[in-house]
Amino acid sequence: MQGFTGGKHPGSIGGRNTDSLNAFISFCRQEDAKDGVLSGISFGIKDNIAVKGERLTCASRYLANYVAPYDATVVSRLRAEGAVIAGKTNLDEFACGSSGENSAFGPTLNPLFPGKVPGGSSSGSGAAVASGIVDAAFGSDTGGSARCPAAFCNLAALKPTYGRISRHGLVDMSMSLETPAPIVPEGRTELLASVMDAVSGPDEHDQTTFGHSRTQCVKRLNDFEFQGADIAVPSNLLTLCSREVADAFSLSLSRLEKAGSRIHRFEFRNASMLLPAYYLIMYSEFSSAMQRFDGLKYGTRQGDSSSQEIALSSRSAFGREVRRRILLGTYITSLEGRSEWYARAQNARAEIREEMEGILSQHDMVVCPTMPVAPYSFGEKLADPLLMYATDVLTVTPNLCGVPAGCIPIGPGISIQFIGRKERDEEVLSAMHLFRGLS
Ligand code: GLN
Repeated sequence: MQGFTGGKHPGSIGGRNTDSLNAFISFCRQEDAKDGVLSGISFGIKDNIAVKGERLTCASRYLANYVAPYDATVVSRLRAEGAVIAGKTNLDEFACGSSGENSAFGPTLNPLFPGKVPGGSSSGSGAAVASGIVDAAFGSDTGGSARCPAAFCNLAALKPTYGRISRHGLVDMSMSLETPAPIVPEGRTELLASVMDAVSGPDEHDQTTFGHSRTQCVKRLNDFEFQGADIAVPSNLLTLCSREVADAFSLSLSRLEKAGSRIHRFEFRNASMLLPAYYLIMYSEFSSAMQRFDGLKYGTRQGDSSSQEIALSSRSAFGREVRRRILLGTYITSLEGRSEWYARAQNARAEIREEMEGILSQHDMVVCPTMPVAPYSFGEKLADPLLMYATDVLTVTPNLCGVPAGCIPIGPGISIQFIGRKERDEEVLSAMHLFRGLS
């Protein structure tokens, strides 16, 4: 990025008026950058990821003045390779949403499609990259939150294998599903690979991390072969897509066939279980993660006397969607002794995972659109949460299964998703990279 001047106030990045998109919640103080493979590359960091000494609001009134005491592992690893941490990007409050409309700091605008949502929950990360304010950004992806804004803003993003990137310093939304996830301009898949090499690998602060600290994403970027590849396409999920998405996707399948891939259509048996399993598990984990916000340690004190009063009154600082999820999650987990919902959702998750692993063991990759619709108008789905949730139907599976999924644009606000085997993030990145060169 040229001409970054830092500072706390909008309007000071690259000479662009960042206020107009509401992509940032705050801007970071600048330190001397180190030399490394990401020297001079500027990053927006979703404001649910800790940057030491900077506000960490999760786009919530509750945390409006909270300052992070340490760097998240992704942030310290980016810095170690010379990256510039430019600012903290807007999001749906606590990453709950798919449109970018749920932020206590106001919605983020889509720089490419005026009047349409930028996608969420990593809305500011998408808008900041798409408008060129920063070179790249980190979002988090629990059920599609990096891939959705990437799709709606014509960008590339990777949701890595669960455990490949440390979650240390990412504010928990749903621990078993989420991961930090990088977003870059569509033509910069090589940068995406460098970022993955820089941040991946074991971290003593997150016991779910695994693998080698030196991954080979850049080195293997040209390795995937479409010639002779077996690509599985879940045809029943395609029926959920709008006409424009289905048309763009079928053109992409022709490109893959022309490149010598074999397309195998199959029915995803557990398709109707995807959203229920995701939402029940996410609600349950979310309500448990949110217990820490009891008004005592974080947030501003609102009640006067007992800790219960303080907890109750401070929770009014949460927005509607966050409160809805805490309530539903608490209800679901309180019935857990009777195995009514949570246990059933876990069983469904196990079945979905088994089905997906079976398909991936017989094919090189699963391919489908990223979002079933193109970017829609502000307000269109906000009043009905189920309408909004329905748009996550193609993104939640990789999170439920822990496998990598990368997306790349195929039309205006429309993108294709490559889903690979666990720990084969290099292959997914390579497929994304080479797909752009197919005619
Ligand atoms: N849209 C999904 C939800 O609202 C995913 C969110 C995410 O990935 N953080 O739960």
